[in-house]
Amino acid sequence: MNVVLLGAPGAGKGTQARRLQDRYHLAHVSTGDLLRSEIGRGTPLGLEVQSTIDEGGLVSDDIMIRLIEAALKEKPAPVVLDGFPRNVAQAKSLDALFMSLGRQVDHVILIDVEAEELIRRLSGRIMCKKCLTGYHMTLKPTKVPGVCDVCQGTEFVRRKDDSVDTIRSRLAIFSQETNPILAHYDAKNILYRVNGMLEIDGVTKQIERILGFASERTRSV
Ligand code: AMP
Repeated sequence: MNVVLLGAPGAGKGTQARRLQDRYHLAHVSTGDLLRSEIGRGTPLGLEVQSTIDEGGLVSDDIMIRLIEAALKEKPAPVVLDGFPRNVAQAKSLDALFMSLGRQVDHVILIDVEAEELIRRLSGRIMCKKCLTGYHMTLKPTKVPGVCDVCQGTEFVRRKDDSVDTIRSRLAIFSQETNPILAHYDAKNILYRVNGMLEIDGVTKQIERILGFASERTRSV
């Protein structure tokens, strides 16, 4: 089973994808994480894409398609994609790529969240500098103020692209570039929508139901 999670920045794709990885062993492929790792390691690709990412723009399709191809070849198991595709050209390339690997996209799930809520979530987002665990200043603070729950680190950083102006341009790009993908997957009858305004657990339950995992989990609890 291969799943694509769609949604604006801040919709919770990463959080839900990590849950699908932990609970159901789908391999989480986040193109944003892959690019940030290139930047962190100072690779030529990282240097090339850094300013585009900091400004909230989209990295070129050529680069992204090469990156996702390498990631899918490395992970032959079922995957959950987070952050790819982001436009119709990428969606079509993904179809072709999966087909060439004898695989397919089975479920595309849109996590729907209102714009004001996205801004609230993104503008308060911070992460531990050491282990990169994500928090939110008011919605999901650390248990002990200023101390990471996971590694006890005490330094926190914000993504450069989480500043209010950049958030607005990322949201505009989402409506212009990513929204048209919905029609592409709707025509294939594999598009599902979930209410992303709910608490994290509520969103997970909707996704589990779509993927047919709900009864499995109920039995194991
Ligand atoms: P994310 O962590 O998914 O919000 O991605 C962070 C940034 O990485 C985006 O704002 C883009 O600059 C870049 N990026 C991630 N995935 C893609 C993609 N599929 N196409 C183009 N740019 C991308």
